[in-house]
Amino acid sequence: MRYLILGSGPAGIAAAKAARKLDKDAEVILATEEHAAPYLRPLLPDFVSGERELSGVADPQGKDLADLGIRFSGGKRARRVDAARNRVAFSDGTEETYNFLCVATGGRPILPLALMGAPGSFLFLNSLGDAQRVRERAMRSDTTVVYGPGYLGIEAARAMRKLGNEVVWINPGLPRFGNPISGEVEVRVTDRLRARGVKVHEGTEIADVTDVDGRIFEVVTAGGRTIRCHLIVVATERLPSIGFLEGSGVKAGAGILVDEYLRTNVSNIYAAGDCAEVFDINRRESRINFGWRSAVKQGQLAGENMAGGGQVYIKNAEDYFGLLYGPPLNERVGA
Ligand SMILES: Cc1cc2nc3c(=O)[nH]c(=O)nc-3n(C[C@H](O)[C@H](O)[C@H](O)COP(=O)(O)OP(=O)(O)OC[C@H]3O[C@@H](n4cnc5c(N)ncnc54)[C@H](O)[C@@H]3O)c2cc1C
Repeated sequence: MRYLILGSGPAGIAAAKAARKLDKDAEVILATEEHAAPYLRPLLPDFVSGERELSGVADPQGKDLADLGIRFSGGKRARRVDAARNRVAFSDGTEETYNFLCVATGGRPILPLALMGAPGSFLFLNSLGDAQRVRERAMRSDTTVVYGPGYLGIEAARAMRKLGNEVVWINPGLPRFGNPISGEVEVRVTDRLRARGVKVHEGTEIADVTDVDGRIFEVVTAGGRTIRCHLIVVATERLPSIGFLEGSGVKAGAGILVDEYLRTNVSNIYAAGDCAEVFDINRRESRINFGWRSAVKQGQLAGENMAGGGQVYIKNAEDYFGLLYGPPLNERVGA
């Protein structure tokens, strides 16, 4: 038996380990576009701010993969899934076959339209590679514009300020799905950021960006303000990273549609974590449950079910976005 798991986030790791646990003789392959060893994504802002070093963001769940006989295959970005031939083609030209496939490719941040024409002006804050680039460039910057709503915007603004940058946070305050914090907490934390010197522009958009001299950029907001900066950090909502499934026959809405067993409409393909739109048998509806904890639970279940487990996913309150690592948001911003 050959289990192929795509993505080395919490869902992918949990799926690989669960499949291994139930099927001791199987081949288990964890193929991911990332080159880095698994890490704790929620701690990336602490890495950017200098509060943690690289070793402090390593994901303990990813440490014993080799000992468990799980093959970690980095630098493999899935490009196409051929569900009829049980094959995944990767962008480096290689292929992997499978008996069971688990898609756990998470999400990617949304890029605002105005930034599309100014590629040198911005960096995302989503992966470890992003965090390394942001940290490195922030060292050479005085002023950073952070763009993004809610929790991710707050965390990015906090980290950049802690690093010593002048920070202007543009919070579009868009209606968003997977909103991880209440409005009340957001208001309180935003006040704390202000008290720490972060300038906040709420309810506006980036309308335009001009490259002044390759080092300085001029950001114009929808409200007509102009902000000069050295860097724009994009910390926006993540949408499921599932484009490579086009043409595979696997059904998707906003995310990959799975039933209560985490199985797609193709019987040997499962999906888990931020890329999956899971059927909730109690509410009789499908939705994406963003968050680390939910990804671990779904990954584990998908892994077990691929290996014959037959368990149903029951959502509960703890499955939502949880602050699992480090102090709660309030304390972080106060620190
Ligand atoms: C800055 C930041 C802070 C956060 N803080 C928190 C927090 O405090 N609490 C919380 O609950 N959640 C937090 N989150 C969200 C949390 O990290 C995600 O919900 C969680 O990582 C989802 O896990 P996942 O395994 O589904 O996907 P991911 O962790 O996104 O992992 C997906 C993996 O798949 C890989 N991949 C993508 N496309 C392909 C492809 N085509 N081929 C191969 N590999 C691919 C990706 O590179 C990645 O390794 C935060 C997110 C960010 C960005």
